[in-house]
Amino acid sequence: MATLTLHPGKEKSVLRRHPWLFSGAVAQLDGRVRPGDTVDVVSYQGRALARAAWSPASQIRARIWSFDAEETIDHAFFKRRIAAAVARRAALPELAGQQGLRLIHAESDGLPGVMADRYADTVVLQLTTAGADKWRAAIADSLHKATGCARIYERSDAEVRKLEGLDCVTGWILNTPRFPGGAKLADEVGGEDESLVIEEHGVRMAVDFVAGHKTGFYLDQRDNRRRVAELAHGRRVLNCFCYTAGFSLQALAGGAREVVSMDSSGPALAIAQRNLALNPQLDPSRAIWREADVFAELRNLCARGERFDLIVLDPPKFAHTAAHAERAARAYKDINLHALQLLAPGGLLMTFSCSGGVGAELFQKIVTGAALDAGSSTQIRTRIVQRLQGAADHPVDLAFPEGDYLKGLLLQVD
Ligand code: SAH
Repeated sequence: MATLTLHPGKEKSVLRRHPWLFSGAVAQLDGRVRPGDTVDVVSYQGRALARAAWSPASQIRARIWSFDAEETIDHAFFKRRIAAAVARRAALPELAGQQGLRLIHAESDGLPGVMADRYADTVVLQLTTAGADKWRAAIADSLHKATGCARIYERSDAEVRKLEGLDCVTGWILNTPRFPGGAKLADEVGGEDESLVIEEHGVRMAVDFVAGHKTGFYLDQRDNRRRVAELAHGRRVLNCFCYTAGFSLQALAGGAREVVSMDSSGPALAIAQRNLALNPQLDPSRAIWREADVFAELRNLCARGERFDLIVLDPPKFAHTAAHAERAARAYKDINLHALQLLAPGGLLMTFSCSGGVGAELFQKIVTGAALDAGSSTQIRTRIVQRLQGAADHPVDLAFPEGDYLKGLLLQVD
């Protein structure tokens, strides 16, 4: 096996169990390696530290599989790690019964570059690094063994693969014919495509795992969607960046008076409306759909003097890294400012950022700026009533703060 020697002092982050080794930390590499191969990581003084996957194309030159320098990285390693990740989720009561569940959350489950989401009888796998890519077969087999799912679909088409020099890979890894109940799920949503239906807090949602965002659904917002259901009763709700209407349908289920949902994506809105139809218990006359740019439409709503009692802002990632934080900050401020202006007295704003480059503290500062500007003429006060985060199947390893990407605030105005 090849040996990766670190520059003096660069072992510190490894000793703190951070899994990334940037190009600047690498002093030399001895031995022949191909992308994704396992290397021994040693300090400048020659102390064995860890085993990692080699990613020559990326600025993150190696990602640590194990902080036990003796641990063999083989099929059995993935089997252990994946079984443990599945068991951790099974041990949390709020996750145990979920039909849609993140099984593997990359670094925070000790598996950099590996994401796996389970939707009913199907596991959707996304591999984003050379190391993860190399172990595809072992990872898929281990997922099959740990879950019993005989349908594993790969969605390795994330942009970040380019940074690793990897092409897109999509398609079935394992596709056993469905059990009878599973087949019915697929038939119900209209046949031809592969999408399936999961239930979340009593609401049925179609998941387009072939063409949808990420692996098809934003599982990380599960708890926050439930919170919206709790808050929605009797309120007029505005759901911005609604995608397939997760928050919107929870608001309807919670008894919202009316729910206006906006997204710029026509296909997402088509699924959103199909999702509503999958739930005959929800009143479609209370749902209004707008294919629109949120930045422009919020201004239009303000200009028309519209008012809402509960607004959800769940935009896409505006900053991919800290370097883009400033531009992202302007975008966050803009939508939060206009959303706050649209709130009726006593109204609630649930606002999120999923940008890794914008930390919770910075996000709060941005929203504070928006609230100051929004309230300057009217002396309205804005209070945080709850801090929000991703669901428990998206854990954050304390040693890996980069994993803490989703943050949100529930605000209440006078
Ligand atoms: N809240 C959703 C996930 C939102 S994902 C859920 O719980 O499932 C972000 C969404 O924002 C995507 O559907 C994307 O189409 C949409 N989007 C991105 N930029 C937009 C813009 N400028 N205006 C409106 N929608 C936008």
